[in-house]
Amino acid sequence: MLWPTLTVLAVIVAAAIHWWWWRRYLEAQAVAQFDIDALKERLQTEASQSEARQRAVFNSMTEGLLLLDHRSRVSWANEAFLKLFEIDGDIRGQTILEILRRHELEELLENVNAGALGRESQLHLNGPDERWLNVNAAVLHDSHGLPRGTILVFHDLTRIKQLERTREEFVANVSHELRTPLSLIRGYVETLLDGARENPELTTKFLGTIQRNAERLQFLIEDLLTISELESGRLTMSEQRLLLGSLVDKVIDDLRADASARGTTVLNEVPELLVHADPDRLQQVLGNLVGNALKYGRQGGLVKIGAEENQDEQVHVWVQDDGPGIPAEALSRVFERFYRVDKARSREAGGTGLGLSIVKHIVQSHGGTVWATSEPGKGATFHFTIPSHPPGPSITT
Ligand code: ADP
Repeated sequence: MLWPTLTVLAVIVAAAIHWWWWRRYLEAQAVAQFDIDALKERLQTEASQSEARQRAVFNSMTEGLLLLDHRSRVSWANEAFLKLFEIDGDIRGQTILEILRRHELEELLENVNAGALGRESQLHLNGPDERWLNVNAAVLHDSHGLPRGTILVFHDLTRIKQLERTREEFVANVSHELRTPLSLIRGYVETLLDGARENPELTTKFLGTIQRNAERLQFLIEDLLTISELESGRLTMSEQRLLLGSLVDKVIDDLRADASARGTTVLNEVPELLVHADPDRLQQVLGNLVGNALKYGRQGGLVKIGAEENQDEQVHVWVQDDGPGIPAEALSRVFERFYRVDKARSREAGGTGLGLSIVKHIVQSHGGTVWATSEPGKGATFHFTIPSHPPGPSITT
């Protein structure tokens, strides 16, 4: 009786132990499964977070970025790329030719995929909004070194190209402006040497022309140096509070000889106002504007200088003449370097074509704006604004 009982008991104990182990095993497996799921989820979250971070970085770039898959179809483009080419639809799955219709890019892709060294190309986009782009391409590889797609980076060179063009035009203009008086001087000197000096009347006339052209060269060089200083930022403005009316008096005094030569009356109508400006530079602005009013205004005419304070702590200054005025289409262009409405008139008056661009530069350096208004036949008025106070908390006078 004892043995069967013991046997049954042993079986029960063995079954219990087995059941207990089985439970532990199932529990362990559940925990392991849970760990794997949690790990998978974590890896997925991390991967999507890193992708989101990567996209945020790519979207903050100023360069356009285009990712192509292994079939050379778009898999992603950053915001700068979409903006650059004014694309607002979904371009995923399309080829570069379908989107941009530029064969140079197809060629670039073929070259880069074939492992060629030419991985850069330049694009010139014509149209009203002309642009130049530099495109770099590179093949992307996976961890096994197999090609996974291509990345294209579009760098907008338009600003640089425009600056280059402006510089070239400027150099061409300067050479032309220097060459004209120089060849006149050489021509008259040669004529004098060839015998014209025997004639005293001709000699006086030719020497007068030589002197005028030498002066023109000097003014041109002085204006060029001023422009170069202003543009390089080397010229520091030493602003201070000034009585505008007194500065206008000084300018009128300096130009008294020119005014009387033209029989023009110049009136200072500036009320008692203080401005915050560099005295020498502001005098240069007023000198150029009043000088122009005398040069281009009516002979025996009237030039008035006025000013008033605006609410936004800016003083509005104007110089008004009663000459022939400026045609509407030239009003904004007169501030461009070397732009003249009437070339012959400007040269005859000793103009360099740089005066108003210097005015614009100085006014803008003070934080002001400059513009011109005119009613052709009735005169021109040049306006500018200049701060009445130093920047920062306002000072009451
Ligand atoms: P410039 O040395 O030729 O005077 P500016 O830059 O001072 O060069 O002026 C540019 C052009 O603007 C002048 O050549 C002239 O055609 C025009 N201009 C300037 N001021 C006046 C004015 N008060 N009345 C008419 N035209 C003017």
